[in-house]
Amino acid sequence: MCELFVFSPFNFIIESEVYVSHFAISMSRYDDISNQLSTLNIEEEENEAFVFEGEEEEVINKYELCLIGRFLTERSINVRAMKTKLADVWRPALGINIKEIQQGIFLFQFYHREDMKWVLRGGPWSFDSAMLILAEVPEGEEPLNVPLWYTNIWIHIFDLPTGLMTEGVGKQLGDFFGEFIEYDHKNNTSTWREFMRIKVRLDVRKSLKRKKKIIKRNGEEIIVSCKYERLGDFCFSCGILSHTERYCSKFLNQDTEVLQKEWGSWLRAPNRRNAGLVRSK
Ligand SMILES: [Zn+2]
Repeated sequence: MCELFVFSPFNFIIESEVYVSHFAISMSRYDDISNQLSTLNIEEEENEAFVFEGEEEEVINKYELCLIGRFLTERSINVRAMKTKLADVWRPALGINIKEIQQGIFLFQFYHREDMKWVLRGGPWSFDSAMLILAEVPEGEEPLNVPLWYTNIWIHIFDLPTGLMTEGVGKQLGDFFGEFIEYDHKNNTSTWREFMRIKVRLDVRKSLKRKKKIIKRNGEEIIVSCKYERLGDFCFSCGILSHTERYCSKFLNQDTEVLQKEWGSWLRAPNRRNAGLVRSK
């Protein structure tokens, strides 16, 4: 029963206008008071400490239903189209409000915990091939202080011998390719498995890892390879998410004009479903 869905791009315009005018009035009053105070002599009693009586008001987490996020891209995002697309794909039962609180940083305000959890579990999300990094705002923390460097992503491990298709091996490999989060038992229990599917936490400041040499008990060396689900734009020259070769400092600083591409689109796992990849029209 998800019919109650309200999303209007006009909300944002109205809200930001109100916010700006209110802010302007506040600053004006503040300046007046500051000017008045600067003309007064400070009396000693003004420097005496004042002890409050009674209980302090309990601090509530006003961002508990909010996610903070940014897109991994050096291109500019069409904010209006992004808001409409994400609201359309996520379809939160009680609606959503998306605000750009700093250039490129967005606050996603939900109105029900399950809506927010569904979005967090279902990622990574993309808009216009730019991956969206999302994080909850811890209690007592300001949204702009939350680090936005990590994303959870499903990866496929290929070329693993059948005997090594175990959760224990998955944990070790997960901690190599990123930080192990989850083992997909459903994908890994059929008789014949083309690949192992695990969820890892990636640090987007690091290059995507592509393969790993492992040694079996009998001393045989094997190289396993990896593909990533729902991968957005990334650099084929340095393997970093967030930019393409055109904006790559490694490429721009190299002497030769021939671009060395050690990463490529072959790192993309085929889409299991189209959800999560949102393209503008
Ligand atoms: Zn690069």
